[in-house]
Amino acid sequence: MLIFEKSRPGRKCQLLPPCDVELVRPGKEDQREQALHLPELSEGELSRHYTELAKKCHGVNDGFYPLGSCTMKYNPRINEEMAGLAGFAEIHPLQPVSTVQGCLEVLSLAETYLCEITGMDAMSFQPAAGAHGEFAGLLLIKAYHESRNDKKRRKIIIPDSAHGTNPASAVMAGFTVVSIPSGPDGCVDLEKLREAATDEVAGLMLTNPNTVGLFDKNILEITDIIHACGGLCYYDGANLNAVMGVARPGDMGFDVVHLNLHKTFSTPHGGGGPGSGPVGCKKILEKFLPSIRVAKKDGYEVERAKESIGEMKSFYGNFLVVVRALTYILTLGKEGIPQASQNAVLNANYMMHGLKDLYSMAYDTICMHEFVMSLKDLKKTTGISAMDIAKGLLDRGIHPPTMYFPLIVEEALMAEPTETESKETLDDAIQVFRELYELAKTDPEKLHEAPVTTPVTRLDEVGAARHPVLRYLFEETSPQGADA
Ligand SMILES: *Cc1c(COP(=O)(O)O)cnc(C)c1O
Repeated sequence: MLIFEKSRPGRKCQLLPPCDVELVRPGKEDQREQALHLPELSEGELSRHYTELAKKCHGVNDGFYPLGSCTMKYNPRINEEMAGLAGFAEIHPLQPVSTVQGCLEVLSLAETYLCEITGMDAMSFQPAAGAHGEFAGLLLIKAYHESRNDKKRRKIIIPDSAHGTNPASAVMAGFTVVSIPSGPDGCVDLEKLREAATDEVAGLMLTNPNTVGLFDKNILEITDIIHACGGLCYYDGANLNAVMGVARPGDMGFDVVHLNLHKTFSTPHGGGGPGSGPVGCKKILEKFLPSIRVAKKDGYEVERAKESIGEMKSFYGNFLVVVRALTYILTLGKEGIPQASQNAVLNANYMMHGLKDLYSMAYDTICMHEFVMSLKDLKKTTGISAMDIAKGLLDRGIHPPTMYFPLIVEEALMAEPTETESKETLDDAIQVFRELYELAKTDPEKLHEAPVTTPVTRLDEVGAARHPVLRYLFEETSPQGADA
């Protein structure tokens, strides 16, 4: 039942003290024509409503969540405690900088550590998501070529194993996308890359590890090829969970990188934000970064870069996500950061090895933090698709892996167990995957009917995509009255 349907006129919860100043209403012409549709409930009903919704959801605190490319790992509670401190949470971006020195120190320290981890020279926390960081990074590349009066560079090279947001961001930044195929080993086809590397190329965007979970073994050659044609190299670092503290994009020849703090650096995500997709760069691009920069002089100051690409978001971005990231980095420390990545890679390989005699792997080699299965053959012989296996997992309390992505693998299931899962959890999940495989062979009908234990059962996916119902249709209400 929706909260609007539980609403009863006049029910209230007194969350705010009564108004003790004179009420001033705007003139008739500035008043809304209809009353706002606000649900009216008591505090108790409200609390129950959201608890009920929370129980219907599956999160990392409920069970295994191996959603490939999303890094759904456990977020230590201490991050939340720090982000909840009044000195961080109850400040205003227009406060005098002398009163928020600690907050500026958080931004400055986080920049220092994340530059150290990525091998970059400067970083901006303004972008609010990974894709937003990509867009910012591409604007840096664009500004760089324009500042050199190099106007013919309109192309961005993107391998077909890139995350789906890469080509979208490149187009939004005004570039044309040149797609490069992957070789049979899942890595960039170097011959094709050489052919594409012309003096019209502004840069390359590489997702690494790529969407099939592989670290491109030719990475140094790739960045050399691009630099030799005058382009810059962009590293999609949303998958940094595989390499943090172990290998640095800056050392591999990359000029720009974005991170997903909400994935790798442990902020709860998946519900639509807030996130943070900071963009880091080498010295040559620093002056183009989004304009607000924190600088350390006697104290911390805020400076505005003159040649900046402009604002990507107001003020400092989603600041509290940065607080969580810094807490995470400081609690893990120099030893813990690489350990987290090593365990993420170990867990993915462990799970892959537990499954690969049944499920065919798209690339049967050592993977990084995630691996991709192809259910093409299973579908041919049993009629059971990647979707059916995913639905079967739901009935067994496991969030499905990412489905039908990457696009270069047919009937793909992409699993990312993350480092925060125990061997027992992985063993249980392997067992469940194996049982579902058996079920596909012996009783496929059962899997076609799944899920049967979830709050909603098998959905009409086509109907949902073609005729989405995104608005609640209210009954007409009366114009706003004097005390509405
Ligand atoms: C998640 C992801 C993105 C996009 O990040 P958002 O925060 O969802 O915009 C980009 N690239 C890769 C490789 C990703 O995994």
